Amino acid sequence: MSTPLAPALFIGHGNPMNALTRNANSLAWQSMLAGLPPPRAVLVISAHWLTRGVAVTAMERPETIHDFSGFPEELNVFQYPAPGDPALAAEIAALLSPQAVRLDADRGLDHGAWSLLTHLFPAADRPVLQLGLDVGKTAAEHYELAAKLRPLREKGVLILGSGNVVHNLRQMNWRQPDSAHDWATRFNADVRRHLQDGNHAALFDLAGEDARLAVPTPEHFWPLLYIAAQQTPGESLEFFNDHIEYGAIGMLSCRIGPARKAPS
Ligand code: ZN
Repeated sequence: MSTPLAPALFIGHGNPMNALTRNANSLAWQSMLAGLPPPRAVLVISAHWLTRGVAVTAMERPETIHDFSGFPEELNVFQYPAPGDPALAAEIAALLSPQAVRLDADRGLDHGAWSLLTHLFPAADRPVLQLGLDVGKTAAEHYELAAKLRPLREKGVLILGSGNVVHNLRQMNWRQPDSAHDWATRFNADVRRHLQDGNHAALFDLAGEDARLAVPTPEHFWPLLYIAAQQTPGESLEFFNDHIEYGAIGMLSCRIGPARKAPS
C-alpha cells in the first residue's frame, strides 16, 4: 500500500497562550487533519527559528524551548516531549542538496511549533523536526528551497508552516481582541487573493504601505512561502481562521492537499 500524500498546513499561531486554550482557532487547526492517517513525522518551519545558513534539528529528543517572556508560569513550564528523527533530518539534508544544511543537535522546539502541535498531536507521539529560516535568503529563495521539500509529503511527512500573515506587535490593540486595522484587513485580503490565484510570485515582493505595516519584519511571513511552495498544479487549497486579532495579528491559515473528512 502506498503512503497517502500528506497535506501541508500554514497556521497563523498568534498568541502563545493558544497552546493552553481550546478555542475557535485551535479547534479549526485540529479539524484540518480529521480523518487522515497520522503522518510519519512533522517538519515545522517556524517564525521563531532564524538561522544563518540552512539548519534542521537532528536530535533524538528535542527539548521544549520557552522562547518568550511575560507569560504565566503554566506556559513557562509547558513540555511537548515529541521525539526527533535524526535519520529523516539526514534525508532532508540530502533532498536540499547542493544547498548546505547543518544538522543541529542542540536546538529544541520553539513555541511556534509546540503551541500548534499540542493541538494537532496531543499525545506528542509523532517525530518532530524544525527547519530554520535562513536570514540570508530572499523570499524567492525561501520559496525555491521549500519546493524541494515536496517529496517529503509523498513519504507521509506533514509540512507545517507556523507564522502570521499580518504581524505587527507595535500596532496591536491589546484591549480589543476582535479589532482589525484597515491596512491589516486589506493586506490579508491581498495575500489570500494571491494564494487563491496561484500567483505565488506576488508574495515575494511586498511593496506599499499596507505591506510595510503588516510585515515590518519578514520572519512571520516567510513560513507561508514554504507552504505555498508545496502546492502542485491543480491541488486544492482551503483557507481557515481568516480573521485579524488585536488589530494587527492575522490568523489566516491554509491547507494544501487531499480532501479531509467533512465535520459531522
Ligand atoms: Zn510568533
